[in-house]
Amino acid sequence: MYDSIIVGSGIAGSTAARRLAEEGKRNVLVIEKRSHIGGNCYDCMDEHGIWIHQYGPHIFHTEMKEVYEFFSRFTMWTSFRHEVVAQVGEQLIPVPFNLNTLHMVFEKDKAEELEKKLTDTYGYGSKVPIMELRKSEDAGIREIADYVYQNIFLYYTMKQWGQKPEEISEEVTGRVPVLISRDNGYFTDRYQGVPKQGFHRMFRNLLDHPNITIVLDTDAKEILKFQEDEILLHGEPFQGEVIYTGAVDELFDCCDGRLPYRSLDFAFEHYDRDSYQGRSVVNYTVSEDFTRITEFKYLTKQKDTDGTTIVKEYPFAYTGKDGEIPYYAILNEENRKLYEKYRKRTEHYKNFYLLGRLAEYQYYNIDAMTKKALDLTEKIINQ
Ligand code: FAD
Ligand code: UDP
Repeated sequence: MYDSIIVGSGIAGSTAARRLAEEGKRNVLVIEKRSHIGGNCYDCMDEHGIWIHQYGPHIFHTEMKEVYEFFSRFTMWTSFRHEVVAQVGEQLIPVPFNLNTLHMVFEKDKAEELEKKLTDTYGYGSKVPIMELRKSEDAGIREIADYVYQNIFLYYTMKQWGQKPEEISEEVTGRVPVLISRDNGYFTDRYQGVPKQGFHRMFRNLLDHPNITIVLDTDAKEILKFQEDEILLHGEPFQGEVIYTGAVDELFDCCDGRLPYRSLDFAFEHYDRDSYQGRSVVNYTVSEDFTRITEFKYLTKQKDTDGTTIVKEYPFAYTGKDGEIPYYAILNEENRKLYEKYRKRTEHYKNFYLLGRLAEYQYYNIDAMTKKALDLTEKIINQ
């Protein structure tokens, strides 16, 4: 009855499902263990009528026209340039650290001298990861690096990862480089925004195709069995493609040990006042147990709300307990080796593909994830 099975209805699974159904003309079954589609991008109204992102703030941003155009078939956009500030003592300073931040935190003459140093050394418009800045032999640049390290990265990273910046992959801190420019944007991408009627509506449109069947509230392992060398669907051998977007260790009952992830507790709070912080995101880089506060109305641009809803994010180490969600792969050599062990176990299944932030044990943004899903399905369709 089905030509293809997709496990998970996040960005990876939903993009792949649409492509296989539409261009591949396949009958596609999407199996999702949560009670909704959309994975971590899911949004909904809370009990106060405020439009919230259930699994933390999600902003679509990309330089890839192909990805932007793909989603633009399924949604219009509320576009904006995302800006973030960090609460450091009494000050709210722009993050990523940029030349505006420099002038806020150093006194005038010093800031001018340091700005010249930065622009002469790296060039106006460049982006320098904090771990690279720290290696500079110039005393002035190291002074800036020390400030940024101490006030933006150290405590936030300790909360988020339970480790110091120098102990985690440079790829992670490199996501928020020092910007040698006066741009206060969190991302520099050309296309930025949120779906005008929400991510959930966008996902509904994406999956609304006669060749797609969605089954919610179902762990794939209830209906798919991974035998020695074949995959069974409801007890019968399944020959079509299976695209799996869940955690790969769970597929094998974590037989080689659990893949480490960081998780988050989201604490939502509602206030009967017009505004809580007057902006979408404030990072707490030197204080508090949570990493950041998001105030949704400034993200979604929802008008005429009754009060305002915020969310605080408390990171913790994922243990696999019921109800916990693995959000962030912890990228290091040891974990990659363990991941490889599991990946190898999947190699002997024909037409089986690992796709997604969990299944590939990677740190993908929405756009990179979408591009991978588009490329994989193109390969499948053309083979
Ligand atoms: P997911 O969204 O995790 O989807 C996987 C799906 O598979 C889930 O629905 C899960 O329930 C389902 N599943 C897993 N196992 C099974 C199983 N056995 N059976 C059935 N179903 C299963 N990216 C951006 O570009 N911009 C942002 O602002 C941004 N903010 C983020 C904020 C946070 C707090 C986090 C954690 C991530 C953020 N991201 C952001 C990244 C973005 O969430 C991911 O790129 C994207 O969600 C990855 O999609 P995915 O399909 O791989 O994974
Ligand atoms: N980071 C930080 N302070 C900040 C922002 C980011 O230390 O104010 C570090 C932290 O280690 C974080 C990483 O940079 O995990 C990547 O930040 P990003 O905002 O990209 O994280 P995400 O939105 O993916 O959680």
